[in-house]
Order: sequence, then C-alpha cells, then structure tokens
Amino acid sequence: MNSAVCSICERREAFFFRPYSGEKLCKGCFVRSIEGKVRATIAKYKMFEFDDRIAVAVSGGKDSVSLLHILAKIERDYPKASLVAVSVDEGIAGYRDEALKIAAENCRRLGVEHHIISFKELYGLTLDEIVERLKDGGEIELTPCAYCGVLRRKALNVIARKVRAEKLATAHTLDDEAQTILLNMFHGDVMRIAREKPVTDDVHPKLVRRVKPFCEIPERETALFAYVKKIKFQNMPCPYAPEALRNDIRLFLNRMEEKHAGIKYTVFKAAERIRPAIERAGVEILRECRLCGEPTVQDICKACEMLQKFRA
Ligand code: SF4
Ligand code: ZN
Ligand code: ZN
Repeated sequence: MNSAVCSICERREAFFFRPYSGEKLCKGCFVRSIEGKVRATIAKYKMFEFDDRIAVAVSGGKDSVSLLHILAKIERDYPKASLVAVSVDEGIAGYRDEALKIAAENCRRLGVEHHIISFKELYGLTLDEIVERLKDGGEIELTPCAYCGVLRRKALNVIARKVRAEKLATAHTLDDEAQTILLNMFHGDVMRIAREKPVTDDVHPKLVRRVKPFCEIPERETALFAYVKKIKFQNMPCPYAPEALRNDIRLFLNRMEEKHAGIKYTVFKAAERIRPAIERAGVEILRECRLCGEPTVQDICKACEMLQKFRA
C-alpha cells in the first residue's frame, strides 16, 4: 500500500498523520473522524437529552467556532433540540470586540441565535478597567486571567440561564483538560479535579450543567478542522499574557506528547479514574451567594469576593 494513501478510504491522498492511532487521513476522512469522535463523546458521557436547549459558549477562537459548526450539524438530526450561541464580552479592547464580530458572523451563517453578555453590564467594569485599577493599586498577586476566568464562568452561567438553556457546551479540548488536571495538582487543589468533569452534575437549580464535547479531541485537530472547513476564527492572541504556570504545563505536555504519543489522553483518563475516590472523600454543597444569588460553595461567590474591593 502506498504510504501516502488515507488509511480509512484507502483511495485519497493522506494529508494528516495521527501519531497516537497510527492513522493517515485524507481531508474528508479527517473531518468525518472529528465529527464522529464528537458524536461518540456526547453519547459516551450522555451529554445531551434529545430535547435539550443547548447554549454553546462561543468566544470567536478556533475551538469554540469549530464546536458551534459541529453541534449545529448534529442538532439537525434532533428536531426537538435547539441551539443558541452565547458569548462573554470581557471588555478587552482591540481583542474581544474583533472576536465577537467573527462569532456573530459564524452564527449568522449557521442561522443560530446569538446572545452576548458583558462584564460591564454584569459587574460595572470591563476587564481592561479591572487591570488598570489593579496596576494603580499596586496589586500583583492575581493575574488578569485569574479575574477573567472567575468572572467569565459566572457570566456564562448567567447568560445560559437567561436563554433558558438546559446545558452549556464549552469548547475545552483534550489539551485544556490535561493542562487543567496538572495545574490543579500543582496548585495542590485536588478537589477541583472532581469538579471539572466532561459533564457536571445537576447540583443546583441555578447552575446550568456544563458539557465538553471536545474533551477527547487534541487542540491540534480542532485547529486543523477549522482550517480544512475554512471556518473563520480569530487568530490574534489575548494582550494579557496567559497564566505562567499553565503555559509551562502546556509546553511540557506538548513536548511529552511528541515523544510519547497519547500521553495527554492518559492524563485525562487518569483523572477519570481518581474522580470517584475524590468525590467520596467529600461532596461540596452549593448554596446561593449572599450578594448576587449565584450558586457557590462559600457564603460569597468567588466573583463577588474578587469585585468587593472595587465596589467598596
Ligand atoms: Fe481572559 Fe486570560 Fe483568556 Fe485573555 S488570556 S481572555 S485575560 S483568560
Ligand atoms: Zn480518506
Ligand atoms: Zn456573588
């Protein structure tokens, strides 16, 4: 057999080699394999009901826009289900505004409703303003990403509830998941490993269940999917540097994956295996934040706690 021929159709020329499976794929078979893997992940983790209203978190980056395209295609097979896109405008000038235009364009092309919630309307401050105030106050212990992550998580829950979604789908890839597992270990926060699952439990009526249909797909392949399908996405990096430790873990995992194909998946599966034991060790009870009413394990949610100093 010619080595440059696709291992699935055995007809067309291969353009991509998948080291962890040994497959060589042509463009058509590659696209079908990604769509098939997403369908299989959804089925394996029972991510959706046939009549769910699904909110897809779309930032405008390659992963979220690819997820939107794939879920829009899958949703056509389920006439009772509905899809809506939700975006968070953190208020990062010159970056998120561009990404949101691209997100909106994709939604229009696919005929998917699109709703945006901004930090400004929800918290009274943009991320740019928060960073400015942190600099003025001489604060350095928390990075912009730490604020952004916590505030975006809450904003997504608020907007998903507002559009009456039963599930909130995010585009976290296998890379994101493996990085987060190691990051939580390195932060010493093992309980978080239990919380970050492919499908969150139904623990509070105000917490929209989150699902991650890309959790078993490497980022390299979601990016390639977007290129092959000629999907428009934002390519510019965020002006705020990503968290240093996460970046180191990303580089480390990429180097390991090159030498030991499949190692990211092994990290992901290891967390799946320890999760039940962590859960047995202590289930956290959610209550409503005393200030904003959002679900939280503490008296005041993390977002309100972070913003308190600005409100004072
Ligand atoms: Fe927010 Fe950090 Fe992502 Fe920028 S890189 S959008 S600051 S989490
Ligand atoms: Zn093929
Ligand atoms: Zn709160």
